Amino acid sequence: MSDFNKKNVVIIGGGPTGLGTALMLAKRGWKEITVVEKRPTADYYEPDKSFNYQIDGRGQKSTDLLNITDKLADLSVASTDFYLTLIKPDGTRKTTKLPIIDPERKTAYWLPRYSFVQLFYQEIKQYWQDTIKVLFNTDCLEIKVFKEQLKVIAQDQDHQQFTFTPTLLIGSDGFNSIVRKTLHETESQSYPFAMQKFPSPSSSLKYKVLTLPPQFPLSQEENDISQSTMAYAIRSSFKGKKQAISLGLLPFKDPNKPRTANIIAYPDHHIWQLKTPKQVEQFLIQAFPQLPIKKIISHEEIARFTFSNGGTFPIPQFCSGLYKIWGEPDKNEGTAVILLGDAVHCFPPDIGQGVNSALEDVYIFQEILTETQDNLSQALPIYQQRRQEDIEALIRLVQISYPWQYNQDPLQKKLWNVNFLLRLLLSRFFPFIFSPHSFVLIQNHELSYSEILAKSNKTTRILLTIGIILIFLFIFIP
Ligand SMILES: Cc1cc2nc3c(=O)[nH]c(=O)nc-3n(C[C@H](O)[C@H](O)[C@H](O)COP(=O)(O)OP(=O)(O)OC[C@H]3O[C@@H](n4cnc5c(N)ncnc54)[C@H](O)[C@@H]3O)c2cc1C
Repeated sequence: MSDFNKKNVVIIGGGPTGLGTALMLAKRGWKEITVVEKRPTADYYEPDKSFNYQIDGRGQKSTDLLNITDKLADLSVASTDFYLTLIKPDGTRKTTKLPIIDPERKTAYWLPRYSFVQLFYQEIKQYWQDTIKVLFNTDCLEIKVFKEQLKVIAQDQDHQQFTFTPTLLIGSDGFNSIVRKTLHETESQSYPFAMQKFPSPSSSLKYKVLTLPPQFPLSQEENDISQSTMAYAIRSSFKGKKQAISLGLLPFKDPNKPRTANIIAYPDHHIWQLKTPKQVEQFLIQAFPQLPIKKIISHEEIARFTFSNGGTFPIPQFCSGLYKIWGEPDKNEGTAVILLGDAVHCFPPDIGQGVNSALEDVYIFQEILTETQDNLSQALPIYQQRRQEDIEALIRLVQISYPWQYNQDPLQKKLWNVNFLLRLLLSRFFPFIFSPHSFVLIQNHELSYSEILAKSNKTTRILLTIGIILIFLFIFIP
């Protein structure tokens, strides 16, 4: 595509994928890039969406490309400094260095979602103000399909409407993508833009987030306060699937920011049935006798928590169609549409790949734009062909890698531990035959998701064969 035509991009969704793509395109010389984002600001804090991201080597391919990995490191807790303190109901504590990491892997960085999205936005404000316009508080209402191109209709908080006729439309609007839904509605025969769902043991778990003060007290003792850079797993005194609960806190670099404690449990858990703030407070006090709950959680926060709907982990899902082209966008007479990030692959956070796979989408799109000299009619089909297999493998990896980590079933978690250790040991002694567990392999950003799945499946097949031979010998050889 000539530089003259590299313009007029509309990006729906200003999350990590949307802002990352805007910066990537701007760096490539694209102009007139508009990001439509319904949230009010980049760092908008939504208590129930305040998860911490771990940006690993895969995600860093994009941050390296954008030259922001150093800034990312400054805002984050490095995986090499990741310590987890387990606090039992009797108050005893055990601190360990994150056990399941591959020492060979690239350092990963932990930071809250709002800091990460803000990092991208700062970059736009500082260097690309003339090229990228981010419209906050603006909702994409509709995408109208004409014979040769698309029209995007958006509306801001003052009900002012905007209409765009983009050359390139990026659907980076997450799980309930309006862009993907529009593409789906344009297909009458096959359904490449329908989400295919593959349930896992963690899908449908319900979660809510409790916001705790910075450096909150860990006990009644003076000066016994939490450290912001420390992860905590705080176990309840209750036992049983419907009563036992855990507070999970991930590390924060900034000691003055509130901490967030995730509560994750099956929808029929007792905590989700509690109707009043008083009931929730009583439950937490009894569940966590080791914590000074009344000092840590304000009445307002308990009330917010009680009445919040929280969220539900999505069923792992993807769609096979990643693009569609109307008219001739390379002559500025048409619209090319590409879907990236959660808009095409979405799953529970078990393997920490949501944001990393989304950033890898951006990186691969960029590589293909380079190969095709930004010719969209060539680049988009290549993108789909190259990325499809990995996306499918990623969804399978989510199903098998670590879905039992939420203490939802202690027996299944133990079996997972046995499987994990067996693969770890065998791969140490016989590295040419066995691979480590897929949860470890995922940390190697140089392997694609399909390569990881192939290695994992090969080890599974060998283990099954050995198991069958052993059973056979046990039964038939006296
Ligand atoms: C509970 C939970 C925990 C998670 N934890 C992790 C984790 O630890 N590690 C990890 O890697 N991933 C995690 N994820 C997944 C991760 O958040 C996503 O993979 C990531 O946010 C994908 O980025 P995205 O930009 O594609 O989509 P999103 O982050 O969903 O961004 C989409 C954006 O589009 C905007 N938007 C949507 N529709 C419209 C519209 N019509 N008009 C205008 N704007 C619109 C939204 O406001 C949003 O800002 C978690 C997800 C959940 C639910």
